[in-house]
Amino acid sequence: MSDDPPLRLILSKEALIANWRWLKQQSHGADCGAAVKADGYGLGAEAVIGHLRAAGCRDFFVATWAEAAAIGHATGDAGVSVLHGARAEDMAQALASSARPVLNTAAMVARWKAAAPDRPCDVMIDTGMNRLGLSVAEAMSGLLDGVRIETLMSHLACADETEHPLNIVQCAAFRAVSQMVSARRCSLANSAGIALGSDYCFGLTRPGLALYGGIAVPAMRAAIRPVAAIEAQILQVRAIAPGQSVGYGATFSPDRPTRIAIANLGYADGYLRAFAGKGFARAPDGPFPLAGRVSMDLIAVDIGSADLHEGDWLPIDYDLEQSSRATGLSQYELLTGLGGRYQRMWK
Ligand SMILES: *Cc1c(COP(=O)(O)O)cnc(C)c1O
Repeated sequence: MSDDPPLRLILSKEALIANWRWLKQQSHGADCGAAVKADGYGLGAEAVIGHLRAAGCRDFFVATWAEAAAIGHATGDAGVSVLHGARAEDMAQALASSARPVLNTAAMVARWKAAAPDRPCDVMIDTGMNRLGLSVAEAMSGLLDGVRIETLMSHLACADETEHPLNIVQCAAFRAVSQMVSARRCSLANSAGIALGSDYCFGLTRPGLALYGGIAVPAMRAAIRPVAAIEAQILQVRAIAPGQSVGYGATFSPDRPTRIAIANLGYADGYLRAFAGKGFARAPDGPFPLAGRVSMDLIAVDIGSADLHEGDWLPIDYDLEQSSRATGLSQYELLTGLGGRYQRMWK
């Protein structure tokens, strides 16, 4: 990649750390880890881990062994948990790694017991989401006898809906398992789960979204700071007369003379076509709306007579909560879609 790509993410170390500290403080005395899967939700796992380790975070969660390997040197002596566990195909890498598998199935438990009886691992219990994890019955069956469990965990299906009845059901089921299965620590809450209160925090919380500026529940709006901002460089500015049109499908056709900035950002950068008619650039005399459709690598922005020119950088609004509402994309999709073409600049 060029050292000076025409697209950048301005990333705030202070905001990331402030979000983690706040989430830790809200965790009612529990340790607070960080989900850094999908390359730190698109922001760059290695840098995220470096900043959070310096702030005191000691537990990181990735999805796969490839992700664990990619961050290996950044984690130092911190714990790394691989959420998708240990398939047969993973065992060689798992045994050579200091990361722990999160065992999700009876077959994984048997595989780990046979290959590494003395090594600590994590275990996921499915308490009602019906995604990954041992059933409560399996967990209570004696299957886990003799397994050295570092973190016993479960995952909430509806934590972002504060009043959802499944939260109480899952929490009670997890508490019952935690009283029967011996583990060094227990962990249930993701970002939104932390907001459900002390009953949900156990010994370790596992936020992801809110670390990166996502508003997991409305109650976090006042405390969580944005971490990532998009800036796209203007590659060309053109004048458009009434009757002319802009972009694919000729969907933008102004009824007044205006100027259009063509900026280096497109759906291949995670700025999906759902932003057409919704997205806008921020500038001192803005906001300036998108003009027409989003292309793969370009957007057009109606800048009118603003003092903006070829080579200038255009801040593109990426408020996660509002963009999610406007586009129908989740805040998770908005972050993890960001892709490889941004220069990630931590400040
Ligand atoms: C992704 C993930 C998290 C983090 O969830 P957020 O909603 O991003 O806070 C926590 N635990 C598990 C098991 C996950 O898969």
